[in-house]
Amino acid sequence: MADMEQDAERIRKIRRLKNEVYGEYGFFYYVPMAESYTVQVPVTVSCSYRRCLYCDLNQGMPFRELSLDEINANLERLRVIHEKDIRPPRRFLLAGGNPFVLSTEKLLTVAERVRTVFPACEYISCFARADDVLRKTSAELDTLRQAGFDRLCLGIESGSDCVLRYQEKGVGRAENAAAMSALDAAGIRYSAYIMLGLGGRDLSAGHVAGTASLLNAAHPFELTVVTLVLFRGARLVERVRAREFQRMTSLETLREGRELLSRLTLSTVWNATHKTNLFPVKGKLPEHKDLLLRRIDAALEEMSRGDVKQFELRRWQNWGTE
Ligand code: SF4
Repeated sequence: MADMEQDAERIRKIRRLKNEVYGEYGFFYYVPMAESYTVQVPVTVSCSYRRCLYCDLNQGMPFRELSLDEINANLERLRVIHEKDIRPPRRFLLAGGNPFVLSTEKLLTVAERVRTVFPACEYISCFARADDVLRKTSAELDTLRQAGFDRLCLGIESGSDCVLRYQEKGVGRAENAAAMSALDAAGIRYSAYIMLGLGGRDLSAGHVAGTASLLNAAHPFELTVVTLVLFRGARLVERVRAREFQRMTSLETLREGRELLSRLTLSTVWNATHKTNLFPVKGKLPEHKDLLLRRIDAALEEMSRGDVKQFELRRWQNWGTE
């Protein structure tokens, strides 16, 4: 009985600590798919850019850098939360929309503190925009890699300048390409987010062609393929209402994804299991490319017989459970 009470007390304590660590993020905060099993260390809240037309991930929250005192206090809470883990945590993620915007000096200090509290730390990942990477010199990127920064998650979204400009991404194809090259040169691995449907019907062909050629010259260890979702608070909503932006149907975005996949020649992982996608598939490229294409074709064939609703239903059922 005493053991049960102790367990219940610990559960309450961990719940309270988690609330103290992550409470400021509000209803949810976004974690890169490739890093969902990491220990997440808050260092920034929201995104320093916050102007992408399609984005409402930050729920209107202003950007804020946590102070080193706050980061230390959170690391101490995380130490308590994880002190009874069977294996000491090894993978870490700096939480926030684009923590790589922080100065190199601050990132290095944070890395050092993470390692002090969690000596088994193998790497530290975070979301990054291309311009966050490009503001750092190659020497700084080298130092960051040596300090443990690895497996960054780049929000590339598209290789088409027209699409990036329309969606007010704030960086173009050249910046995305340069950021990936800089990370390659520094030996920092990265995954790349790609968003299907981002150009709508009008820009779809350019979106596919530009993204395929951009990716074929890059070396992301994984492509996180997601589908455009119209967030209620995103400015894109007004463009849709004004019929200026022609949204693609789920079926059209699946065909767009198929077309993109068919043009890829790089070695990476195609991970389209994100819940925004109509038909989730994942596999290694180039080994599994034909298999993935055949699976998508079979799904398209099934949907063409009028079964799209079933796929949509499954997708929304999963939405609530993930
Ligand atoms: S999509 Fe990423 S970079 Fe753009 S506003 Fe949202 S969090 Fe910031």
